[in-house]
Amino acid sequence: MAKDTRLAIVIPCFNEAKLIQSTTDRLLEVLTDLEKKEKIYNNSYLLLIDDGSSDETWLEIAKAIARNPYKIKGIKFSANFGNQKALLAGMLKAKEIGCSAVVTIDADLQQDETKIEEFINKYDEGYKIVFGIRNDRKTDGFFKKITALMFYKLMSLNGIKIPKNHSDYRLVSKEVIDILEQFKESELFLRSFFHEIGFSKTSVNFDVKPRKVGKSKFSVFSLLALAANGITSYSVVPLKAIFVLGLLSMIFGLVTGLGAVIAKLFYHNSTVGWLEAVIITSFFGGLQVFCVGIVAEYLGQIFIEVKRRPRYLIEEEIK
Ligand code: UDP
Ligand code: MG
Repeated sequence: MAKDTRLAIVIPCFNEAKLIQSTTDRLLEVLTDLEKKEKIYNNSYLLLIDDGSSDETWLEIAKAIARNPYKIKGIKFSANFGNQKALLAGMLKAKEIGCSAVVTIDADLQQDETKIEEFINKYDEGYKIVFGIRNDRKTDGFFKKITALMFYKLMSLNGIKIPKNHSDYRLVSKEVIDILEQFKESELFLRSFFHEIGFSKTSVNFDVKPRKVGKSKFSVFSLLALAANGITSYSVVPLKAIFVLGLLSMIFGLVTGLGAVIAKLFYHNSTVGWLEAVIITSFFGGLQVFCVGIVAEYLGQIFIEVKRRPRYLIEEEIK
């Protein structure tokens, strides 16, 4: 029955001290409203993960918990492990504490929190995964729009299925977290993971709001790392592409080489001049380093995975 649903709202927080109070207040309102409507049970809660913030985020989380000890819980990472790890830790911890479903949402509440009710409705209809899909990218800057477009194109070229315009705002049921727990890899790309594992899925559309306080916590570097991880953790198409590229350039090399030898031997004419030589060697030199770079990305992934280090370290916890 719907009102038996114990909902956990998981919120990753990195240097969000100024937002913690308003965000927790607002999300508690959402929980109370859903409890009143008997859509969820009154033991539902918020779980905040401090992803190694250098500001007073943890202090603010502790204060919020002191104000609402039964409704808010918190985990503090020992260092900044990134938002994917914070989400992962949050979902696994929510399962350990106990829940029927988890909704993950950003601390800045850019994602429309009123839609959580629709997530729950879909969950009640029997869906195990509900993706929040943003209606547009109005709040993104030019750079983010372009890179996002390139990212989706690259993902589809690599045969990776990923819900478009979905950014970690989603509901997953406890059964799905049981599956997530079995995936021990370090660099798990959650958006692809939840799309690939099956289960009944649906989506809910929402409008993105501008960030109220502070700036985006993702640097260009961390966005690129996320994109590279998205590809290398779900596809080996780039490696196969290198094979094809190598084969094509070998055929090209053979044909042009043979042509040059024939021209020299029979016609005493060397057609390849200095300029062509420079262009060809620098192009193929660049191509080789680029391909080695792709292989290195996979090597890096293997290096990280093979060591089986903990994915994140929890320094403190308030349950
Ligand atoms: N975040 C995190 N660790 C990080 C970077 C971000 O936990 O290393 C959190 C951040 O506090 C926020 C969410 O991830 O709750 C999304 O970040 P942000 O709003 O900065 O991203 P954007 O809206 O620009 O995609
Ligand atoms: Mg944001």
